[in-house]
Amino acid sequence: MTEGPTAGSVTPAEVAERLRGEKRILAVSHEAPDGDALGCLSAFLLMCEQLGIPCRGYVPGESGIPPEYLFLPKVRGVLRGRPPSLEPETTIYFFDCASLLRSNSHGFPEDVVRINIDHHADNPGYGEYNLVDADAASTTVILHEIFEAGGFSVDREVATALYVGLVTDTGRFQYSNTTPDAHRTAAALQECGVDVAWVYRQVYESTPLPKLLLLERALRHLEVRLGGALAVSWLGNDDFVQTGADEGHAEGLIDTLRRIHGVRVAALVREKSGENGVQAKVSLRSTDGSLNVAELAHKRGGGGHARAAGFTVDEDLATVLDWIETEVGTAL
Ligand code: AMP
Ligand code: MN
Ligand code: MN
Repeated sequence: MTEGPTAGSVTPAEVAERLRGEKRILAVSHEAPDGDALGCLSAFLLMCEQLGIPCRGYVPGESGIPPEYLFLPKVRGVLRGRPPSLEPETTIYFFDCASLLRSNSHGFPEDVVRINIDHHADNPGYGEYNLVDADAASTTVILHEIFEAGGFSVDREVATALYVGLVTDTGRFQYSNTTPDAHRTAAALQECGVDVAWVYRQVYESTPLPKLLLLERALRHLEVRLGGALAVSWLGNDDFVQTGADEGHAEGLIDTLRRIHGVRVAALVREKSGENGVQAKVSLRSTDGSLNVAELAHKRGGGGHARAAGFTVDEDLATVLDWIETEVGTAL
């Protein structure tokens, strides 16, 4: 493979060419997977099957897959928990993983070839080969470019999985990353057979009751601080237990906090108990772009995009919320 403009940087055509020659693949996405993470895995696993390449999918951690994405082909078969052991000649493809840490890949051997496909501006280029395009609305848009460049046939199932990543990462084509290219990709996918209204029903109107009950808890704990500029809320372990919800049900709840009139930054903090004890998992959103929430997340070892970021720390919920208030108050 030829070198791109920076060491290890590759084009969609180069990834497609490499993909054809793979013996075995592990396709990885990030913990607490969202529609882009799972859309990538579903589309990629389907495509590998078409190409006759043995491929397994893996998402670190044990937290539930958000139920709205379980309709995507192959998602139920994705490996969970600790990184699986790799058979010889396996290449790892990472999708939508801003950092190696988020893919838990410290459990993978050092000598394995890593292909890093992502759209986070803060992605450090941890792969031997990196295709990072911060202008892409979703990582599935980049995956679509790879399939097109390789001349691979994008059937209705593959197109639907790619579309799910795009529609969710753009907030149903409403966020500032909704570029003309995002719409062009959506049009191309629709021409491949995506039933847009059906996807809408699956993703946005098939909400399990525990998720709505969890939203009710988040609204109960809602506080508007800094004169209305900051909306914060939290979900404790009890909230999950009493509503019958799991971590996957928290996906997207922060969207309700960011809707509030006058809110410029929204934060939702979830209590998370796992092998590292009790931790606080923070989601941050900027509504108007006046504060770069990825920079805030970096201060606590997290990351993300300018308007959607997150981090996880070993702190109690109240301490984290106060830290956020101080930081946002200083920055705004
Ligand atoms: P979330 O709030 O979990 O929906 O995540 C919003 C954005 O922040 C996504 O682009 C994530 O990839 C990123 N993000 C969330 N948590 C972390 C973390 N601990 N480290 C790096 N990036 C994160
Ligand atoms: Mn993601
Ligand atoms: Mn994404």
